[in-house]
Amino acid sequence: MPGIMTLPEIKVPGDIEDVLNAVKMKNPAEPEFHQAVVEVFDSLRPALAKHPEFRAARILERIVEPERVLMFRVPWLDDQGKVQVNRGFRIEMNSAIGPYKGGLRFHPSVNLGILKFLAFEQVFKNSLTTLPMGGGKGGSDFDPKGKSDNEVMRFCQSFMTELWRHIGADTDVPAGDIGVGGREIGFLFGQYKRLANKFTGVLTGKGLSWGGSLIRPEATGYGCVYFADEMLKSRKDSLEGKLCLVSGSGNVSQYTVEKLLDFGAKPITLSDSDGAIYDPDGIDREKLAWVMELKNVYRGRIRKYADCFKRAIFMPTDVLVDHNPIWNIKADCAFPSATQNEINAKDAANLIMNGVKLVAEGANMPSTLDATRMFLDAKILYGPAKAANAGGVATSGLEMAQDSMRMTWSRDEVDNRLHQIMIAIHRNCYETAETYGTPGNLVNGANIAGFLKVANAMLDQGLV
Ligand code: NDP
Repeated sequence: MPGIMTLPEIKVPGDIEDVLNAVKMKNPAEPEFHQAVVEVFDSLRPALAKHPEFRAARILERIVEPERVLMFRVPWLDDQGKVQVNRGFRIEMNSAIGPYKGGLRFHPSVNLGILKFLAFEQVFKNSLTTLPMGGGKGGSDFDPKGKSDNEVMRFCQSFMTELWRHIGADTDVPAGDIGVGGREIGFLFGQYKRLANKFTGVLTGKGLSWGGSLIRPEATGYGCVYFADEMLKSRKDSLEGKLCLVSGSGNVSQYTVEKLLDFGAKPITLSDSDGAIYDPDGIDREKLAWVMELKNVYRGRIRKYADCFKRAIFMPTDVLVDHNPIWNIKADCAFPSATQNEINAKDAANLIMNGVKLVAEGANMPSTLDATRMFLDAKILYGPAKAANAGGVATSGLEMAQDSMRMTWSRDEVDNRLHQIMIAIHRNCYETAETYGTPGNLVNGANIAGFLKVANAMLDQGLV
């Protein structure tokens, strides 16, 4: 028709490479999203060969397209009375098996592509938990670091003033992630309640006296260690006496260290964006309590650890170096628990050369595609994030169940359920990897098992 410009239609024929090319073309400048899709699709080949019905229904093309993307302005006033403006997001990726569920991240690096990678991963992770949860993710490029409590509150209130109309206990249930802990969830929940005039389980990670669950703060770290224990058991080994590298020093890292100590392992490192500490004597319970106070109360930097504990050394971050020194310390196990792509090919080579037996991912997508392939080729125990760190969202699911019942479970009850879920996730990944002809490859196991449940639900529900 004259006057109407028609864009060339993107060709999306049958095979995986064509779908991947279309994803890259349609979503330019989103490298993390491309990386997450490539990793999942690479694993799906044997499953797609067995199930032609998924290709016929164009499940791949549909599963990479978010059901809804929200992007909004977040204006707020700082302590000097100056206007600040941030960008808010919520990616509602897939609701085939339950309401959208996934955390909010507040960090200056946040952008659309990073949240799409996280939301995409979340779909398969939530499917693995055995609980009925769809996948979503959100956040803002707001940096809570160095802000006063009042500034964080004003930001959270402004963020929720837009988000509240899109979420709900049966629609979309956000939680915490990097930069969003108990303080932020409290401010967000308060504003939601005020606007919606409803006290519901619309967020997880809530305080214990207002709908939260025991063990939720601990769940991701504890779950990751339970998963590592299962991986080691599959080779008749255990965590007892193992030297462990842990990166990050936030929520996931702190409770990873705590649970490693319960299992008799010896954690020897922690880090933040300024650098890493290495303590050859091990981070014991007393030192961990000191770190928790430093990070959660004073919001201080990890370099202080080396001032306080004299045998420890601090290794500052150096962006000009091609590897991260934390992954070049001799150890048996590695628990990357800070952020995406924190282990590159050089780091993976260092870990393998130093004899690491196990990598369990607490952070989301902490290993680059090359690093992942190197771990798989080296046949070490490798627990990918969407399986190893699923304990956090699983316990969020348990919080939702308690909220719906208007009841609370004891610490032991929740911890026991979390432990059983992690055992079940490991078994599912392990057995699925075998069924599809790649025994021991938990990346394939996790991706295929997570995908099948969601894809079958999408088939059942028709073209929506
Ligand atoms: P926190 O904000 O509590 O801690 C994050 C830690 O990682 C901090 O030590 C932070 O250092 C460091 N970090 C963050 N970004 C960077 C960066 N770009 N470079 C170097 N260090 C960085 O977050 P969580 O512990 O909750 O989350 C950590 C990881 O675990 C994330 O990948 C998250 O998606 C994942 N995860 C979290 C879950 C949860 O329940 N919380 C559930 C499942 C996965 P600094 O303070 O200097 O920024």
